[in-house]
Amino acid sequence: DPAATKGKTYKIGTDTTFAPFEYQEKGRMVGIDMELIRSIAKKEGFKIEIQSLGFNAALQALSSNQVDVVIAGMSITDERKATYDFSNPYFQSGIQMAVAANNDDIKSYKDLKGRTVVAKTGSEGETYAKEHAKEYGYTVTSVDQSSTMYEMVKSGNAVAVFDDYPVLAYGVSQNNGLKIVTPKVPHGEYGMAVNKGRNADLLAAIDDGLSQLISSGEYETIIAKYLGADG
Ligand code: GLN
Repeated sequence: DPAATKGKTYKIGTDTTFAPFEYQEKGRMVGIDMELIRSIAKKEGFKIEIQSLGFNAALQALSSNQVDVVIAGMSITDERKATYDFSNPYFQSGIQMAVAANNDDIKSYKDLKGRTVVAKTGSEGETYAKEHAKEYGYTVTSVDQSSTMYEMVKSGNAVAVFDDYPVLAYGVSQNNGLKIVTPKVPHGEYGMAVNKGRNADLLAAIDDGLSQLISSGEYETIIAKYLGADG
């Protein structure tokens, strides 16, 4: 019953930097996910406390019930469904590879032979990179933060990064020093997660709020604010 959430306070775990979905601006967490969850909470009458933990740390905090919800550009996967319950999907995403803007050697996965690539611990980008490592003969290093991944690519400690394409595209559009060199690999949709079998009321409230946001056009306004009209 979504009404059971009224007046309650829930802890929301999120990634540290995953623009345009979550990032800091003037000391405040902003981005698509942050606007969605704040607006849902307001509509449903519950309060939230946002914790910027990092992606893998947020999932661990959810598993151990230290947070009630994760919203972190988190892809709905069958494997994760064994551990978490997901809201309705709210954004189609997938994986892509980027290299330093001044790198003209790496144009496809084949050019990765003998090289090191970087991905985020516990992410679908990491899973994808590892799945193809043998085939193309590269090594995968995992780190916790997107910002670390991008720095490693720019400093040459990794030749490429596997990350979600809306996030890579947004970074490139902000001149983050990277460029995208491979096609998009569609890889499911984002959902908000609660621990499996817990917080059914909260999940119902999230789904109710989300569908209100979609039907009122507010969802589209939020997406357009961060990604432009065709986001
Ligand atoms: N969408 C990816 C996943 O769910 C990455 C999420 C993230 O890095 N915040 O694994």
